[in-house]
Amino acid sequence: MLLASSVRVFAAMLGTAHDYPFKPVPFTAVHLTDQFWAPRLEINRVTTIPYAFGKCEETGRMYNFERAADVLRGKAISDRKAPGYPFDDTDPYKVLEGASYSLAVQPDAKMTAYVDKLVALIASAQEPDGYLYTTRTIDPQHPHKWSGPVRWVHEQDLSHELYNAGHLFEAAAAHYQATGETGLLNVATKEADLLCRTFGPADGQLHVWPGHEIVEMGLVKLYRVTGKQSYLDLAKYFLDVRGSHPGGDDYHQSRIPPLDQTEAIGHAVRAGYLYSGMADVAALEGDENYLRAIDAIWTNCVGKKLYITGGIGARPSGEAFGGDYELPNLTAYNETCAAIANDYWNERLFLLHGDAKYVDVLERTLYNGLLSGVSLDGTKFFYPNPLESSGDTERSPWFGCACCPGNLTRFMPSIPGYFYAQRGDAIYVNLFASGVADIALENGPPVKLTQETRYPWDGAVTITVATVRSSPFVIAVRIPGWARNEVVPGDLYRYSDRPPEQPMTLKVNGQTVAANLDKGYATLKRSWKTGDVIELNLPMPVRRVHADGNVAADSGRIALQRGPIVFCAEWPDNPNGKVRSLILPDDQTLTAEFEPHLLNGVETIQGRAFRLSKNADGAAVTTGQPFKAIPYFSWANRGRGEMAVWIANSDAGARLP
Ligand SMILES: [Zn+2]
Repeated sequence: MLLASSVRVFAAMLGTAHDYPFKPVPFTAVHLTDQFWAPRLEINRVTTIPYAFGKCEETGRMYNFERAADVLRGKAISDRKAPGYPFDDTDPYKVLEGASYSLAVQPDAKMTAYVDKLVALIASAQEPDGYLYTTRTIDPQHPHKWSGPVRWVHEQDLSHELYNAGHLFEAAAAHYQATGETGLLNVATKEADLLCRTFGPADGQLHVWPGHEIVEMGLVKLYRVTGKQSYLDLAKYFLDVRGSHPGGDDYHQSRIPPLDQTEAIGHAVRAGYLYSGMADVAALEGDENYLRAIDAIWTNCVGKKLYITGGIGARPSGEAFGGDYELPNLTAYNETCAAIANDYWNERLFLLHGDAKYVDVLERTLYNGLLSGVSLDGTKFFYPNPLESSGDTERSPWFGCACCPGNLTRFMPSIPGYFYAQRGDAIYVNLFASGVADIALENGPPVKLTQETRYPWDGAVTITVATVRSSPFVIAVRIPGWARNEVVPGDLYRYSDRPPEQPMTLKVNGQTVAANLDKGYATLKRSWKTGDVIELNLPMPVRRVHADGNVAADSGRIALQRGPIVFCAEWPDNPNGKVRSLILPDDQTLTAEFEPHLLNGVETIQGRAFRLSKNADGAAVTTGQPFKAIPYFSWANRGRGEMAVWIANSDAGARLP
């Protein structure tokens, strides 16, 4: 509860004229008890976080801090070898952030002791003026080859010094909010103060933009925690200076200033962090120009560059966005970090606009292309998340460039924070899972909402109200786009079958109420009393989706969706395992069934399909066979083999094996 209360204290202390008009209900105030998320959050806490700390030790990432600290103590060190990457420092920061979030909701003496030791280690590797970048400190004459001979000389391109700083700031804000201890926060503010002295518009300062964005978001978090205006100013400066002088390129989103950008371009993780930073600055500075720019970029991204799984960044080359409608499946890059960045961005746009369409994108990404990044047991990871596999794709226990596992460890514990928001006397119910939320409204006593549901497997949601408030207030319940016959905002994807015959229903205390939608919400205003019950029923038939005709890779193909979940056909569930040569005609009936013993319990889709193959004479033949699809997020937990999200619905889209 510390986080919730301290955030409120600081918000009051800041007294800023501007901020996000909608406020998230902090994850510390939302306790999930469901069968879908709660077990995954627990696996992240008890398995993935300790595992990732272990990997950081095993791969020398902690050792880099130890060596830097030894150098600063004047101790002679024999091993001056540079780290694998100059950004290896960020991995311990990210896992530390995840551990902090986890500790904020669940005390754990062992984890606390580990975190305390790590904070002390990080502090000991910081140079006296605040600079913290182990590869240069270990050997200033021979740092990593990307780092350049002096501080920040390669910042706009390769050195990642400000990227390291950004992740330190994020971790420090989380650690302080979780524990109330200032050890890591002091390290972060010391470095932030150095950055404020070093970078800026004045003569003698460096007019340099961050090569890999995230320091913008990190500075905003430090500003929220400390109230120090110079941190917010520097975040804005880093946006303003980007692309303002020659030397930029599309890869770094720096060929032109962000304010003039209208398309999602370049390295997708950097882009997602940039757009999130732009949203933060737009909110806190009340800057309409940054708002206009990210709105335009979002429209381009969601209308032309978003995978049906919510993944972004089609191209392996440059880990980058492709052109409009360039959405290949087999080679789809869709870095796990980019999915996380996409959710950071869409959450911020929701907080700016209060429109459920952003939550639609967030939910699609969360349940599909983000969750696919980690194995069911929490110890194997995807870096790219393709939508098709010829059998050579496998999760990995770690990576040389290990951004994704650490990013998952910090994202997972924060998931309950995406469920609810509030503005004035209105509560927004954005996501669905069984659990309890304590929601503070601006005036008067708090409200407790208890959700009961089997979501995402079933669309029946019961929300029970508990409050002593006497005045009317609003509970705005998101009616997901998928339940309104809209796959995504815009028309990149559409359902190709008929809408369900059963309409969605909404009841209060057993009485049907009209769901007059406002920005995707059914807005229920009344004098709520303890024991009042909202019943939402979102029918979840199996739906077939087709892509805009401009998406060549999906031509003649359909994808299967049920509720928010995108499905795929994987080799173990289909005879012969050759799922890439399946044909699933539109007239084939598909049914859904919950299989409690498959993949920790998932809903599957079943029916019949045809498999295209060659006979002895080399002629194409089709053979009927049973068909089964599983949730996309759960694939690649049973070994290597074929997988396909987009399946031919006629001979025209079919391919021979
Ligand atoms: Zn990554």
